[in-house]
Amino acid sequence: MRTDLPVPHHSTLDVLDASKIQSFQDCPRGFFYAHVLGWKPEDHSVHLVFGSAWHDAMEHLYQNGLSSKNAADAYQKFLARYREAFPNDMTDETRAPKDPGTALKALAKYVTAYRGDEYEVLFTEVAATVPIRENRVLHAKCDAILREDGGLWSHEHKTSGRNSGPWRDQWNIKLQIDVYSHLLFSAFPGEHVEGVKINGAIFTKSKGAEFLRIPVRKRPQDMQAFLWEVNHWVDQIEWNMEQLAQTKDSDPVMTCFPKNGESCSKFGCKYPGLCTSWTNPLQQLHRMPPGYVVDHWDPRKREKEARYIAEQEGDKLVIKQRKEDV
Ligand code: SF4
Repeated sequence: MRTDLPVPHHSTLDVLDASKIQSFQDCPRGFFYAHVLGWKPEDHSVHLVFGSAWHDAMEHLYQNGLSSKNAADAYQKFLARYREAFPNDMTDETRAPKDPGTALKALAKYVTAYRGDEYEVLFTEVAATVPIRENRVLHAKCDAILREDGGLWSHEHKTSGRNSGPWRDQWNIKLQIDVYSHLLFSAFPGEHVEGVKINGAIFTKSKGAEFLRIPVRKRPQDMQAFLWEVNHWVDQIEWNMEQLAQTKDSDPVMTCFPKNGESCSKFGCKYPGLCTSWTNPLQQLHRMPPGYVVDHWDPRKREKEARYIAEQEGDKLVIKQRKEDV
């Protein structure tokens, strides 16, 4: 665990998952703010809260089956998560279509849409620490592993506000999907693994909820390419950490975690005001902007909530029920 950096120490600095690596790919400086300093906007993002609440509802349906009663129970799971962030139901309409009323109708529609499908749910909520090379691991959690059409699939619940081509096409080369595939190949014989299915739900004001499932198949050679690429990105993060260890707040420029100006206009940058004036953010550590809090993303917390843990035994991952749940 590193303690040689000129920033407040936090135990998550050495912990990596697909989400942190994707943040680095988007913009290394954004990664620095989010995952080295842990600065996060105080306000809840409706998209993240809704996605997380929808995920809880899906988890209930995958564990208990598709029925009207289970849809009603799944809605209660949804609501419990949603109300943690938005306790006042008088403001729900301002967040439409990411609101409880739309979710309630969507769950009923979801059950009707998929009730006839034939599959066997083997595991839900599987957390793993997956090796990507000797002495290097990634943390991962997949939503469900199913036997379907004679093979094994991981299903991942995703929501969006647009059923756009870029949204549908992104999954085939997204690092997060490769991590799920790597988990499957690490736990099961390769000839049984089919791939990952995005269990997508699109929420729009005009149409309410629409559903689609997007299969992403990976071959063993795709996994070889993934392992080279993911290690490249982790090497980059570690190189920037080394540079950071040698940087002082008296330096005019912080020569690590460079800004990626191509990402500034992308939906979702949480630090739009910081990069135009700060050449060395280490000089500003005492000036966290108003509206931000320190809250480090820690993938290990999700592992504590998982139903199953995949542990390395020999050269395979073995999926076991968490001891507390047995
Ligand atoms: S404003 Fe641009 S350079 Fe700065 S963190 Fe966001 S994406 Fe990166």
